[in-house]
Amino acid sequence: MVKAHLMTRGFLILPYVLFFWLFNPSNLFAQNVPVSTDVGELNRLIQPHLPHPLPDENPPTDTFNVSISLQEGTPVVFSIPGFHSLGCAKCHEGESLHFKAADRMRRVLAKLKTIQPELREIPLRQYIIQSWSDKLLAPNQLAHTTFDTIRISPAAILIDSKVYQEATHLHESLHLTQKFVGPANELEAYSLNIISDPRFLLLNFPYFEDIIKTFFIENFSEILNDFYARPIRKQLFVPQETQWFVAPFNEDQLERLRQAIGKVTPLLDEVSRLNRDYPKEFAYLSEQTGNPALLLEIVAAKHLPIPDSGVSEEIRRKAFSFFDLQMNKKDNIRLGYKINRKKEAFLFIQNQLMIKDPVIHLRLYFEYIKKSFVKSDGKINVQIAEGEDFNSYVLSKIKGVRKMISYKGMSKIEREAARKWIKKMLFLDQAKKNPNPSLGGGGDVGENF
Ligand SMILES: [Zn+2]
Repeated sequence: MVKAHLMTRGFLILPYVLFFWLFNPSNLFAQNVPVSTDVGELNRLIQPHLPHPLPDENPPTDTFNVSISLQEGTPVVFSIPGFHSLGCAKCHEGESLHFKAADRMRRVLAKLKTIQPELREIPLRQYIIQSWSDKLLAPNQLAHTTFDTIRISPAAILIDSKVYQEATHLHESLHLTQKFVGPANELEAYSLNIISDPRFLLLNFPYFEDIIKTFFIENFSEILNDFYARPIRKQLFVPQETQWFVAPFNEDQLERLRQAIGKVTPLLDEVSRLNRDYPKEFAYLSEQTGNPALLLEIVAAKHLPIPDSGVSEEIRRKAFSFFDLQMNKKDNIRLGYKINRKKEAFLFIQNQLMIKDPVIHLRLYFEYIKKSFVKSDGKINVQIAEGEDFNSYVLSKIKGVRKMISYKGMSKIEREAARKWIKKMLFLDQAKKNPNPSLGGGGDVGENF
């Protein structure tokens, strides 16, 4: 799974991960040719740290735990389940692994608080080094934030320290602070990653591609193609995206990207704010439109001047009606499809309005997004997300978490935190329906959560 390297609050959005896999051009270009020795060295390190098979699918019963204080409040449980039974003890002394992990998390939490000062408390209670795969950490998933817990594979720790400069840890730490689940969370977490290195934008292009092309770098597709055209060694244990990340790449192109990201950064801050204030709404809208980039695209349409599409008023009207038709469909939510409604609308515009140029499709799209989501006072119209489908979407996510609580591999800390999350969600729902303080909290609950 291509996006697996950067972890997801993925238990509910796995279909997205698979979706990106299909669209990633990586499969087309991979070839077997030698690359730099760094990758060879990393491969040698990763090899003994691949996920162990579990004989009966039960998580190991032995564990090596140490509680360490990182921030004020409850200490964090650093845990290596299977430390003896899975053979880690043959080469490692457990305590030093935990102390290293604690140092890493201290650095990362401090960095996150610098980037987002309004995050005063980051609810980390547990850090599990997980040396096997299961529903909580899929075979090619390197890390996964569940509830108050980061689960990370040993290979991910290696990759993160040797190559990604702890970006995976930063990404997961942000997930800890997010209030709901779904694709808008990934958009926000990858946004953090692209600020520290433009290569993360290339690896996670579906979140950023269309705003970069429309507002900053028109030939962005060429950069993407060049990036993925570089040969990698498929037979290695080092994930393909890590190999593309480390392989030398055109410095001019990276610099152009860096400059674009600099201009996008204020928009990313707004994405974070909106995802904090309306987490359920943007989770819903992203999933309903099958577009993980939606929130950023709305913010971009609000702030950036949209280049003129140059089409007649009549064509624009027709194009907008195709967008309306697609963007209002609920099948992704009701039937569980994963259709990107933006791309679907482009097909109609291409085939029925005979507009072949994808640049024009995108300009029309951003005009449409601005008209639909940005009110005349500049505020973003989140009411679009209200209604029966929205409510059942939220309930389905709560159900998903209930199911997750029943997984064998869930720890006590995760179960407790997940139950607390469910309670909050149901309480908020209740408070919204009965905005009367005597019924429990009323309107300001949302802010406190
Ligand atoms: Zn993630």
